[in-house]
Amino acid sequence: MIDSHCHIAGAEFAGDLDAVVARAQAAGLEGALTILAADDEAELTRAADVSRRWPDVRFSIGIHPHAAGNFAASPEDAAAAVEAALAAQPAARAVGEVGLDYHYDFAPREAQHAVFRAQIALARHRRLPLVIHTREAEDDTFRLLAEEHAGEVPVVFHCFTGNTATARRVLDAGYDLSLAGIVTFPRAIELKEVAAFVPLDRLLIETDSPYLAPVPHRGKRNEPAHVALVAEAVAALRGDTPQRIREATTATFRRIFNP
Ligand SMILES: [Zn+2]
Ligand SMILES: [Zn+2]
Repeated sequence: MIDSHCHIAGAEFAGDLDAVVARAQAAGLEGALTILAADDEAELTRAADVSRRWPDVRFSIGIHPHAAGNFAASPEDAAAAVEAALAAQPAARAVGEVGLDYHYDFAPREAQHAVFRAQIALARHRRLPLVIHTREAEDDTFRLLAEEHAGEVPVVFHCFTGNTATARRVLDAGYDLSLAGIVTFPRAIELKEVAAFVPLDRLLIETDSPYLAPVPHRGKRNEPAHVALVAEAVAALRGDTPQRIREATTATFRRIFNP
């Protein structure tokens, strides 16, 4: 089983990374895709600690939409920062998380668009998959991905939270989607429908650690070991076995990220 999206190079894990990795391996994880922010020097540096402790970890590097405002004057600098970080990180396998966030709107939308476009172009140029963050911005996310021909590389909608109609749209565009611990929340009715609906070869599971801890850990720091709970929830919703969900999502991960 693989956690397809976590932030274990973040400061939240600096104090007990050994224990976090040990619990992940004890839970049966073969690896994890760790997201690095290209504009966070400290996080890029801590990635080396993650690799030392867990050599099977792979990285995805991007400028998050929250930070797009810092590149408003020159969006190409965002892509340049990602390109430099990719060149310095031999275990990098993807560009992301990148996208649009209209829920928080921390950056002006125009800047979010320009920085997103520049990073789609980079992913195509480098032939790397894209890890997409989109929140309350689905229409523009689909539009920009299409306009920038993102379909030339694999595209993953991480922490998918839409309904089955939006999931259909993701799949029809040729993209894949990843479910996080939200699928364990009792009130996430529509997302539970999505978990039963998505073909297994288009589905990933993730924790988004340290955020979004699944039931029964809600409100606490999340960690990659808890992706097992996401697999169990998805299995129950599909009437399938956790074993099959673990194997299928791992196969999907390997197809997309070529780890
Ligand atoms: Zn995200
Ligand atoms: Zn994330």
